[in-house]
Amino acid sequence: MRITLHTLENQVSRCQRCPLYKKAHKGVPGEGNPKARIFLVGQAPGTEEDRSGKPFAGRSGKFLSEQLAKLGIDRKDVFITSVVKHYPPGNRMPTKDEVNACLPYLLEQIMLVNPEVVVLMGNLAQGIKTDPVLQGRRIIETPHPAAAMRFPRMRKEFERVMVALKTRPKH
Ligand code: URA
Repeated sequence: MRITLHTLENQVSRCQRCPLYKKAHKGVPGEGNPKARIFLVGQAPGTEEDRSGKPFAGRSGKFLSEQLAKLGIDRKDVFITSVVKHYPPGNRMPTKDEVNACLPYLLEQIMLVNPEVVVLMGNLAQGIKTDPVLQGRRIIETPHPAAAMRFPRMRKEFERVMVALKTRPKH
């Protein structure tokens, strides 16, 4: 029997599969519509996410919510998470071992939500693009929102690629 998203959240909050839990305050499993059509994947929680337990809760989260809103998409209609679910100290890049330990959670989340479109934000997330769980789903690759926020060229690229998500106006 498949586990539920709720069970998975509990597993993440108690997870000791890699050492990141030792210094982190909270696991950040992700959040959103459990039947979302659009599923977004970032890198790893930052300090604000570690404090709140919510994904993309800081400045890059605000940027991401604004970008979605510009496309007519309400953040609560999508599902948002990251490859790694505990804060890597100093916001460093997660190691290969940390990613491998955490990846089963993300793949399970994608199977459970069963989205049509998966947005892989940044290099770490783009590492899963050939995984069988993505077969038959549309993949959109963007720069990471933190980079898009900071560098105009990446912001342009982010906006250019994200247009593919645009919802049709209701009339
Ligand atoms: N960056 C990420 O990749 N994930 C978060 O949850 C926050 C910032």
